[in-house]
Amino acid sequence: MVEAFKNSWITFKSIFIGMGITIRHFFGKSVTLQYPDERPVLPNNARAKLYVNIDDCIGCNLCARACPVNCIYIDTVPSTSDVDLGKTSTGNPKRFWLTRFDIDMAKCMYCDLCVHPCPTNCIYMVSEYEYSEFNRTNLIYHFSNLEPAMVAEVKEKAANEAAEKQRQREEMMRKKAEEAKMKQIEAKKQAEEKNDGEKGSEPSKKENGDS
Ligand code: SF4
Ligand code: SF4
Repeated sequence: MVEAFKNSWITFKSIFIGMGITIRHFFGKSVTLQYPDERPVLPNNARAKLYVNIDDCIGCNLCARACPVNCIYIDTVPSTSDVDLGKTSTGNPKRFWLTRFDIDMAKCMYCDLCVHPCPTNCIYMVSEYEYSEFNRTNLIYHFSNLEPAMVAEVKEKAANEAAEKQRQREEMMRKKAEEAKMKQIEAKKQAEEKNDGEKGSEPSKKENGDS
């Protein structure tokens, strides 16, 4: 009997506490947003989506190397001597064409590790969060602003310049080898002449000694 009263008391007490909380929230300020008619304002440091200001990127690859899931894909081509790519807004010289800069946001885990090593602060999180897609390949974002024709052109120019530099290097090494060979021949010749001179002077010494 006592146990039954005790259980009834606990039951009523739980109901009153629960209803008290419900009534308090019923008359209090609502915390539920009627999405999508209402949208939350995210804090400035929210990690919702990555963005790259490609004009400030120097193609150093530090962000891609920092990414633990390898979802940043960067391809670069060195600029040729006839092109000045200028500087970033932070004053860093740009030496590479960015032929590819893709981020797969479907793989990204929003850890922010790619943001901190960037020397020009050009990769960062933005608070845009409404970018769901039916096709996951649409979540691969392409930041390079080079057209395919331009990519082909810079690749060809870079390959030609690299081949020319290689040819010059080989030519220089060939000349150096030739010079070294000539020096060796010259040294050998001088040594032989010296030997011949010494041999020629030996009998006269002998003659002097005999007399
Ligand atoms: S936030 Fe993390 S997972 Fe996403 S791209 Fe950057 S380093 Fe990779
Ligand atoms: S770390 Fe910054 S500058 Fe370097 S490749 Fe990544 S985004 Fe570009």
